[in-house]
Amino acid sequence: MTEALYMKDAYLKSWDAKVVSVKDDKFIVLDKTAFYPKGGGQPWDEGYIIKDGEKFKVVYVGKFSGDISHEIEKPGLKEGDLVSCEIDWQRRYTYMRYHTACHLVSNILYRKANAKITGNQIELDKARMDFSMEDYSPEKLSAFVEESNEVIKQNLPITIETMSRAAVLEEPELARLAIGLPKNLQEFRIVKIGDIDKQVDGGTHVNSLSEIGEIELTKTVNKGKSNRRLYFILK
Ligand SMILES: [Zn+2]
Repeated sequence: MTEALYMKDAYLKSWDAKVVSVKDDKFIVLDKTAFYPKGGGQPWDEGYIIKDGEKFKVVYVGKFSGDISHEIEKPGLKEGDLVSCEIDWQRRYTYMRYHTACHLVSNILYRKANAKITGNQIELDKARMDFSMEDYSPEKLSAFVEESNEVIKQNLPITIETMSRAAVLEEPELARLAIGLPKNLQEFRIVKIGDIDKQVDGGTHVNSLSEIGEIELTKTVNKGKSNRRLYFILK
């Protein structure tokens, strides 16, 4: 199992590691990594793995049965190599801001309209959220986003906790993105926004709400029945 450094410290930008395995000259597993693997609507990190001053660009990161695999652009790394790593911080930080913003908006949608999130996708220049909502209007969504912006002004801290499976099951709203809890896990990582929001989550988040900036609703889509979609950007 790769040690996932981003789970404890989302602000870690560089670190040393050891190459554990190399497949097809380009798929690298490290003993520990802060490169975020694609998942939960958040794209993978890019950056460099560096050996003796030579830079290997990381173009994709994915999670495969507990290991985090980094795809590099050219061959040259071997098992046992000692390397240093650095993240494309601008890219990652943008995703952190969007990810925390998604949690905040989903919190407002859930509290005010009992809306359940069915999917979300973060990009560098926008985020998309899919949700179920009975009584829908673009004006309502606009008001919810404005409310989110008001909450940002409170500048609440974002903190990470661990909870047992039994405790999580007692609070079903913790897994708002209702895809069910992984069966083999007994402990879960909880991302909290102040005391207003708690979510089971493996993503990377900013430390405080003000880092999000301002959320601007750019598009709403009524996909029929109770399926809705919204897009927002961060200013
Ligand atoms: Zn999340």
